[in-house]
Amino acid sequence: MGFPMSIVAPKERKHLSADALFHLVRSGFATIPDPRCDDVDISLTDALMSAFAMFSLKAPSLLAFDKERAEGNLHTIYGIERVPCDTHMREILDPVSPKVLRPVFKSIVRQLQRGKALEAMAFLDGHYLLALDGTGYFSSTTIHCASCLHKVHRNGSVTYSHQMLGAAIIHPDMRAVIPLMPEPIGKHDGTDKNDCERNAAKRFLIKLRQDHPHLKFIVTEDSLSSNAPHIETLHNHALHYILGVKEGDHAFLFQQVQAAEHAGRVTYYERHDRAAGLVHRFRFVNDVPLNASNVDVRVNFIEYWEMSKDKVQHFSWVTDLRVSRRNVFHLMRGGRARWKIENETFNTLKNQGYNFEHNYGHGTQNLSVVFATVMMLAFLVDQTQQLCCALFQAVWAKLGSKRLLWERMRALFYDYALMSMCQLFEALLYGFKKSSPLVAIDSS
Ligand SMILES: [Zn+2]
Repeated sequence: MGFPMSIVAPKERKHLSADALFHLVRSGFATIPDPRCDDVDISLTDALMSAFAMFSLKAPSLLAFDKERAEGNLHTIYGIERVPCDTHMREILDPVSPKVLRPVFKSIVRQLQRGKALEAMAFLDGHYLLALDGTGYFSSTTIHCASCLHKVHRNGSVTYSHQMLGAAIIHPDMRAVIPLMPEPIGKHDGTDKNDCERNAAKRFLIKLRQDHPHLKFIVTEDSLSSNAPHIETLHNHALHYILGVKEGDHAFLFQQVQAAEHAGRVTYYERHDRAAGLVHRFRFVNDVPLNASNVDVRVNFIEYWEMSKDKVQHFSWVTDLRVSRRNVFHLMRGGRARWKIENETFNTLKNQGYNFEHNYGHGTQNLSVVFATVMMLAFLVDQTQQLCCALFQAVWAKLGSKRLLWERMRALFYDYALMSMCQLFEALLYGFKKSSPLVAIDSS
């Protein structure tokens, strides 16, 4: 209305601004009990918030963060009273159990629901697509801790590593993803055996249902997950699925599809996209057994070819959703969107400024897992901005890349005394000399 250069943010989205979310994260940290005795110089809240600020600012290392502590802005923008030095931050965070961070993830997802931002991510009849996948982020032959996975080689040497099961709400048409609290894959209290992705998935699904008992999900995973016990677990948690399958790993299933084809039960369907020069070809059949030893586990099968002038891409999935000509195209898009957990989540964390594979400090107990989890939390806050904050979107569009956005953000953060993240983004968008108000809240 009155501000030709301004961005008018919808009223219900003001709780989803960077400043509001930093405040929410800090209040979440403040409820975590400090395992140390009372007379501590730096609070656990400040130590956790400092780690969060380090990842939020995309500091390349803990030492770099320590060198440029910019105390003033860390206090005004991130609400940190005292910033610990690098050694002290590691000491405070090493004994912290990563699971205490779960409620903070949950409260941000709640905020997204409240702002009606999550609704926009719904994929099918109010169901959200939830992609799950494991990834490694640390490996060493020398550095290790109590929660490292061990791999003993033939010559007796050992490789230590950390992995996690990542989870993100995705949508085929949206670049932003909503990561949930990841499940660490590592050694657990009192056990000697190495953990594995399948056990991590079992733990993850139990906690998913505790945190979000009423959210409707369609889980999407790669072909390693297409086995009867896992499908049963998904079913027991009232979760739908679209899971990859491979002819080499699921020979019985593909034989059954062939038999169904001979019996005339298989449907072929084709859709031509002339503008894109693509032909989408499907064959599908409902209600076939997954494998010979679990014939009572029945699935619906989709095979898909995307054909262009010089390339054919081939995919296949099983799902519990009944497949028809009406929905097969949409289900295919859901199955293909799974790559977003690899590309838009893990690759972004590894290559787009977050330094997921950098060792910020390993500790002897939990430090490595705590850092990885807090980094995922910072990523969740950033993705929420990307999805909901018009100001963030405008700055990103202006600068053209996240890498440049983070670089400019850090430069301003370290060089100027700022009141808020909003002020920082406004400065990036309009330059410092322009006068406010630049962002108004729609009060209609
Ligand atoms: Zn370790």
